[in-house]
Amino acid sequence: MLLENILAAKKKAGESSISFEFFPPKTDKGEANLWQCIQELSQLNPDFVSVTYGAGGSTQDRTRRIVERIKHETSLEPMAHLTCVGSTQEDLAELLGQYKKSGMKNILALRGDAPEGADKFEAVKGGFSYATDLVKFVREQKAFSIAVATYPEGHPESAGGMADDLRYLKIKQDEGAIAAITQYFFDNDAYYRFREQAEKMGITIPIIPGIMPIGNYEQIVRFSKMCGASIPAWLHEKMQPVADDLGAVKAMGIEVATQQCQNLLANDVAGLHIYALNKSEASLAICKNL
Ligand SMILES: Cc1cc2nc3c(=O)[nH]c(=O)nc-3n(C[C@H](O)[C@H](O)[C@H](O)COP(=O)(O)OP(=O)(O)OC[C@H]3O[C@@H](n4cnc5c(N)ncnc54)[C@H](O)[C@@H]3O)c2cc1C
Repeated sequence: MLLENILAAKKKAGESSISFEFFPPKTDKGEANLWQCIQELSQLNPDFVSVTYGAGGSTQDRTRRIVERIKHETSLEPMAHLTCVGSTQEDLAELLGQYKKSGMKNILALRGDAPEGADKFEAVKGGFSYATDLVKFVREQKAFSIAVATYPEGHPESAGGMADDLRYLKIKQDEGAIAAITQYFFDNDAYYRFREQAEKMGITIPIIPGIMPIGNYEQIVRFSKMCGASIPAWLHEKMQPVADDLGAVKAMGIEVATQQCQNLLANDVAGLHIYALNKSEASLAICKNL
């Protein structure tokens, strides 16, 4: 089912969508673990699930294999992430053609990050430089609902912070995106400010919050520095004293994410997109609490 129809049905019913994000594992053991996780999260009847797209060729093939298997062997609606990294327009057209043939309906169109070993993103000759170009290209295939990424606290490369991100989100909408999924954040006020400014700029597509359950605090601190998500003082005070106790961090991570989602749901979000990272435990607990 097209994401635009999924979200319209949810809106009509006065409900918010729930979705989970997975990544393509590199090993057979990781893959077995992913299918176990997908099976466990299926109990929650998520509205869609998405699978990330890596920079290297083999990871890209894995994304396709996994989303097609979800499409054909489960009752879940998959969304394939797609990036501009390392691909010419011909490569992208071929992959989208395969997706069309296999009945895939939903694409998350991204620029992507620099591949391992490179320090910044560089467009390949005959490829695209920005997600906005990819959105337009995917729309021209006339087969997919297109979602995009957005950054309530600013993309790390945006010189103009939130204002830049809003400007590019508006272009993504104008080129055909029907929904945006945010980078994870812990400060809901930052999201509300972003959403309010987006509305003022004529951005009408749903901006679905990305939710990151914390499982390892030190890892999250490191990753947040790279991706531009702030760690509020209240969160640091809560997590830092137990950072070495993974059991305590996991339990607190579930509590923090539950409260964050409750607050977002009380403020009319179109959906919640949980970065499940191929583990079901936290997502199951958060959804049970909600
Ligand atoms: C929900 C979500 C899922 C993700 N999934 C993946 C994944 O599967 N694989 C992966 O590799 N990465 C993924 N990422 C990370 C993403 O690829 C990076 O954040 C990347 O650096 C930017 O991608 P983008 O699509 O937001 O790029 P863009 O929107 O193109 O933005 C990139 C930078 O260029 C600027 N910019 C945008 N448009 C223009 C323009 N027209 N002119 C000038 N400047 C412009 C922006 O301000 C920004 O600084 C994901 C991110 C999110 C939030």
